[in-house]
Amino acid sequence: MAYKFIDNYREKGARKKLVKELAEKKGITDTNVLAAMAKVKRHYFFDETFWAQAYLDKAFPIGDGQTISTPYTVAYQSQLLHIKKGDKILEIGTGCGYQTCILIEMGAQVYTIERQEALFNRTKKVLPYIGYNAHFFLGDGSKGIAEHAPYDKIIVTAGAPLVPEILVKQLKIGGILVIPVGDTKQQKMVTVLRVSENDFEKFVLDAFKFVPLLGEQAW
Ligand code: SAM
Repeated sequence: MAYKFIDNYREKGARKKLVKELAEKKGITDTNVLAAMAKVKRHYFFDETFWAQAYLDKAFPIGDGQTISTPYTVAYQSQLLHIKKGDKILEIGTGCGYQTCILIEMGAQVYTIERQEALFNRTKKVLPYIGYNAHFFLGDGSKGIAEHAPYDKIIVTAGAPLVPEILVKQLKIGGILVIPVGDTKQQKMVTVLRVSENDFEKFVLDAFKFVPLLGEQAW
């Protein structure tokens, strides 16, 4: 794939329209999320041939059998994280890095892990090039990254069969985990709030469809 990093009027306009749709029709109310979505150039993650698709609310193949999540999914998960400037966030499933950019744009310090080497190598190069710096890791994120724990927030961008206990243990007290949980066809978005050392509150929300989270604590 050939990537080009130019933000033309056509893409600027399409991005503005998408953000308006997320706010007015899809129930995204967090102004920080909307501001980040207005800034991050989603077409930078597409081959130029497909730029016309970049600001539709659709998932899209990013190579290696993986997808860039729909803008609504990215906004929805980001909103559930209640991000504050300086939050230390673990993202499991870097993919092309679009979600990573949204988190960074919102002021988070991001640790992101991807299990597919080709995606990891590409994203680790592209993100700093377009101005987004994160800590990139290659490996099985279903176990989290214990060496850098605890985290204020953890976001999982692939569908898990259950909430891995090892992940909630890597949250700070007051921290939030956002993870899609279900079978491989459909998942419900789940948030887990770490209330104290041993107390957790779980909320089950809307249905989504993600690629599977593969690994030791997953499929
Ligand atoms: N966050 C991306 C975006 O901005 O659109 C989309 C991520 S894609 C839906 C899910 C990613 O999770 C894939 O790149 C996949 O390879 C990765 N993945 C699946 N299981 C994983 C695991 N155990 N550890 C790390 N990454 C994993």
